[in-house]
Amino acid sequence: MSRILIVEDEDKLAHLQIDYLRNAGFDCHRLANGLDVVPWLKSNTVDLIVLDLMLPGRDGLELCRDIRRFSAVPVIMVTARIEEVDRLLGLELGADDYICKPFSFREMVARVKAVLRRLQPSATDKSGELLRLDAGSFRVYFGKLDVELTVVEFLLLQTMVQQPGRIFSRTQLMDLIYRDQRIVSDRTIDSHIKKLRKKLADLVPGRELIHAVYGAGYRYEHYREGDD
Ligand code: CA
Repeated sequence: MSRILIVEDEDKLAHLQIDYLRNAGFDCHRLANGLDVVPWLKSNTVDLIVLDLMLPGRDGLELCRDIRRFSAVPVIMVTARIEEVDRLLGLELGADDYICKPFSFREMVARVKAVLRRLQPSATDKSGELLRLDAGSFRVYFGKLDVELTVVEFLLLQTMVQQPGRIFSRTQLMDLIYRDQRIVSDRTIDSHIKKLRKKLADLVPGRELIHAVYGAGYRYEHYREGDD
């Protein structure tokens, strides 16, 4: 179940947001004061933040900028000021989407789902653990940990994560990664996979996520309980 942090100071609005998101199957936590957000995020994990712009304590703009210093968690800004939208989504703040007040709650739920789909191509595995890929920074997250990948490593992982269990041959991976038809050898892919596996092993110790299939290629498997 994805967990959403709602930062909204108006009680009535916050309660409606929570109702709609819970009905859509999300787990919600709400904070009303801007000062509480960063400390809460440092000790809790969340999949997405719906962040109001005008808040007591600290405003949403300042918060979004601060959050981006230590986290790539998706942020949807809620604003009544349409003229701010460009700035919200710009590199300066790094919000992932926005909703303008007044908004429909169905629309809000749809935006939340769309952002989660866009930014989290991998599915939750049985243990509830999630490997999250952020194409903006080429980082992969597991719980509170993360590691930076090279572009090629990121593309390899992204390709395999989208179809867990499927075996990809080296040729398929080369075609997917090197779209400019550059000639690379099988060993190039093996060497990138080797480095990727090493990074994933540091990120998720004791779990093999990318499996070499003898004579065939590679496949990605989500961690399953009892795999150790
Ligand atoms: Ca407000």
